[in-house]
Order: sequence, then structure tokens, then C-alpha cells
Amino acid sequence: MTDSPLSGRILACPSCGKATAFTPSNRWRPFCSERCKLTDLGAWASESYRIPAKPAEDEAGGAADDSET
Ligand SMILES: [Zn+2]
Repeated sequence: MTDSPLSGRILACPSCGKATAFTPSNRWRPFCSERCKLTDLGAWASESYRIPAKPAEDEAGGAADDSET
């Protein structure tokens, strides 16, 4: 692979789609800003970490009753 790390690399911010420079000086890459990075992380974190937030007592009788198939 000839992936030369030139400072002219531009990509779209995964969060807002804004053209963003993918350079070592861009500490928020691949995002355009800290805000977009936090927004994106918060988006998946709030969805992924919502599961263990359920009360433990709920799996006592709702395990087999919660099937969606
Ligand atoms: Zn952005």
C-alpha cells in the first residue's frame, strides 16, 4: 500500500459530514471538532451502555418472557 500521510487528506466528519482535515494536528480526527467527537461517542455510548443499566431483578422472571421472535 502506498498510503502517503500527506497533510492534504480531507474526509467527511462522521458526525456532521463537514469536510475535515485528517492530519496529526487535528486532534479530533476523524471528526471535525471535539463537539462532534463527543456527540458521536455519546450516541453509541447511550445506546450500548443502556443495557447493563437495567435492574438486576428484572432478569429473574423476564428472561424467557422477553423473546421477540
Ligand atoms: Zn463534525
